[in-house]
Parts: sequence; C-alpha cells; structure tokens
Amino acid sequence: MKGITLRGVNRYYMNTHKCPNIEEFKAILKKHSLKATPQRLAVHEVMMELGHASADMVTEAIKDKGSAKVTLASVYNILTHMAMLGIYHYRMSSNNKMYFDVNTFKHLHFYDKDNHIFRDVIDDDLVSLIEAHLSRKRVKGYKIEGFDIQLIGRSTRKKYLA
Ligand SMILES: [Zn+2]
Repeated sequence: MKGITLRGVNRYYMNTHKCPNIEEFKAILKKHSLKATPQRLAVHEVMMELGHASADMVTEAIKDKGSAKVTLASVYNILTHMAMLGIYHYRMSSNNKMYFDVNTFKHLHFYDKDNHIFRDVIDDDLVSLIEAHLSRKRVKGYKIEGFDIQLIGRSTRKKYLA
C-alpha cells in the first residue's frame, strides 16, 4: 500500500505547488490596488509558515514575532479580504472555526479531527483522476467549477496523560 504524504506547512514541491512568496504577494496586492501595509505583510509571512490557520492563530504568531501591531479584528479583516479576492482559500473546521489556506493551487486536505489541524495532500494523480471522471459528468443546471476533498482521520499515536 502506498502512503499518502501530508504537508502541514508550505514547502516547495513543484513550481505549481507553492504559495506566493512575499514579493509575489506584494505584486498581487498592487494588482488589486491595495497597499502593502506592515499588517498585510505580517499576515502573509505567518500564513506562509502556518499554511492553514485561523485568525487567532495568525494574530498570536504575529504578536510572538513582534513583526507588526495587530489586533484579532484587523487580522480577521485582512484574512477575509484576501479570501474574498481569492488570494487565500478558507475552510471550516468541525469545531466551527474558519481556517484560511495560503495554498490556492489544486490540492486535497487531510483533517485531524481531534486536534483540528488541516494538512495538505498533494496527489496530482488523484486530482487528475477526479477531473477526468467529472469531465464526463453533468449536474443539470450547473457548471462544475471545482471540487473539495477532505480526508478525515484520527491519530493512532497513544496520548500520554499527565
Ligand atoms: Zn490546503
């Protein structure tokens, strides 16, 4: 049985499998006539490291770094604004938290339902398989724009009780 590789943080894989670096992010902001404020840049820096994160995780990380002055509300606004523009994607966790995803290329997810952690599943073969399958399918009255696949799992490692 072949293993599925999970990615928690963003690492370079192939050219098409990476999020915008900070220079590319600045160019994207410019394209949308947005200023590269220290807050926006700090959010993106942290998102590149975390890959998938909620507004409070991002706020916490920026405060730890001391890279910009932010509040939870300002971080949330930046993240939702970026998601609205398609610069980030978002997904809901089963404990009803909004997680933002820095990777917008085609990928699948693995969700750790105990720890509420999303990880990327990079599997081009599976993506091609689904795309080929869907290309022969119709949903009456709709045009299929994409798909969203999430594997759900629990850690098999024993938990140590203090
Ligand atoms: Zn992802």
